[in-house]
Amino acid sequence: MRLLLVEDDKMIGTAVQRGVRADGYVVDWVKDGLAAGLALQDHAYDLVLLDLGLPRRDGLDILRELRRQGDRVPVLILTARDAVAERIAGLDAGADDYLVKPFDLDELAARVRALLRRNEGRALPFIEHGRLRLNPSTHEVFLDGAAVSLPAKEFALLHALLTQPGVPMSRAQLEERIYGWGEEIASNAVEVYIHSLRHKLGTDQIRNLRGVGYMVPSAP
Ligand code: CA
Repeated sequence: MRLLLVEDDKMIGTAVQRGVRADGYVVDWVKDGLAAGLALQDHAYDLVLLDLGLPRRDGLDILRELRRQGDRVPVLILTARDAVAERIAGLDAGADDYLVKPFDLDELAARVRALLRRNEGRALPFIEHGRLRLNPSTHEVFLDGAAVSLPAKEFALLHALLTQPGVPMSRAQLEERIYGWGEEIASNAVEVYIHSLRHKLGTDQIRNLRGVGYMVPSAP
């Protein structure tokens, strides 16, 4: 899962980035409104954490443009305590949820999970697919009820594939999902992770479609 953090306050941004990363998400952090607009044009994000009071371009403006373009990416706004009107404007402009600063990082993590879950059309906190069960909040994976230990990147890959069973994802799409800016990507990293996943979970769980990409079969 790849998140965009838009926040000009260095202290808050650093804390949020660290907290969300510890939860296994990839986070790109931009510190002004123009950079946010560019990042949203160039990358597909699973969720946006959006401060509203930003240099160079207002957060509300970014949000309105996103929705005008038909982009349905979940947006969680981060606002100041006394800014009730701002929160209302944010929700009306298409935000999905908000948090009032200063907020608890555990609450932020829980709201992020809830929004991602809702976006995937799940009411339950875990993803269940055939013999597999994946819990995004605890980072646990079970195959036929038995726990399977996965390193962070393998977990992130499996999570990405399980959000759309039956839909192949290319290597580039998967790299987008599991790497942030500035992270070194070995050219065959996705292949290596997939190989390891297929070894641990069985080759029938992840299909390799030559020249297209990888997918979890829709009816395992
Ligand atoms: Ca701000």
